[in-house]
Amino acid sequence: MARVINFSAGPAVLPEEVLRQAAEEMLDWRGSGQSVMEMSHRGKDFMGIAAQAEADLRELMGIPADYKVLFLQGGASFQFEMVPINLLRGKPRADYVNTGVWGDKAIKAAKTFCHVNVAADAGDKGYTYAPAQADWRLSRDAAYVHYTANETIGGVEFNWVPETGDVPLVCDMSSNILSRPVDVGRFGLIYAGAQKNIGPAGLTIVIVREDLVGQAQPKPPAMLDYKTHVDAESMYNTPPTYGIYIAGLVFQWLKRQGGVAAVEQKNIEKARVLYDYLDSTDFYRNPVAPADRSRMNVPFTLKDPALDADFLKGAEERGMVQLKGHRISGGMRASIYNAMPLAGVQALVDYMKEFAAARG
Ligand SMILES: *Cc1c(COP(=O)(O)O)cnc(C)c1O
Repeated sequence: MARVINFSAGPAVLPEEVLRQAAEEMLDWRGSGQSVMEMSHRGKDFMGIAAQAEADLRELMGIPADYKVLFLQGGASFQFEMVPINLLRGKPRADYVNTGVWGDKAIKAAKTFCHVNVAADAGDKGYTYAPAQADWRLSRDAAYVHYTANETIGGVEFNWVPETGDVPLVCDMSSNILSRPVDVGRFGLIYAGAQKNIGPAGLTIVIVREDLVGQAQPKPPAMLDYKTHVDAESMYNTPPTYGIYIAGLVFQWLKRQGGVAAVEQKNIEKARVLYDYLDSTDFYRNPVAPADRSRMNVPFTLKDPALDADFLKGAEERGMVQLKGHRISGGMRASIYNAMPLAGVQALVDYMKEFAAARG
């Protein structure tokens, strides 16, 4: 069996240990005689799996007791809608920061529900930086402030948490959750689709401060109301059971790695190896302001785009896949989430050097 080195932005690489464990437990989960996929979500076995996953996530992120953790479906895109539906709380306005494709999509979705004040927009420099808080124009009566912690396509990441006083801070953390420690207490709500840095697509994690739940005005349909899911402990309807199980295995794996702070050190090293090489050559280029470069998604272009196809073909021959950039931005993108080992990044840099030497 040969596994590729997978630089996909999502669904993305998972730790091999996790996949092996899932394979081992596929037909018979711990003597239960069934696969997790076949279990009732209300049975003792699955309830235990879900409770353990939540406990481990709480431990890894240091989630305070007054925050609820929800395992939902619908992806981050569904949260683009659920956030305004639930958090406007009768207020007419919300503040959004636009740092790229995902920030922009969140804004477009929110506009259906309220007046969006774009407090900062990095479009003046092609979405290649994270606007400093001093340049944000927050409104006084905003229901919440929304930003995207890591722009998965543009490769722009906030390495700081905005300060919004009493106004709840809402964060799309889809592509960098669990890659670095964050102080959850600074946020009103955090959401993340699982398929970037956690597990399979189909699971979405929402972490919400208790006092923000049940305040929606007007009262939303049940499925769209966080309160429904909080009251039912994410079992109002059938949750994405297998996704929760795999996420739970990933949380256990993260704990074995030493937790989020230890994984952050590995992520810093992986990103350093790749950016150091990018900065050392004119053959490749990353457009993002150095202070705001993503540790998770590294877009880069070749000096001559006519070489792109050959670059990708050579990469594939060496077992490196999904390096083609997003269709919006072109060029290349290497996603190097938690589960990407340093050796994978080193293999990429070795190949980039070889290619530049041959074609430069
Ligand atoms: C992938 C991604 C999304 C969209 O996720 P879906 O699960 O496809 O809805 C939103 N925001 C960010 C930052 C992402 O990386």
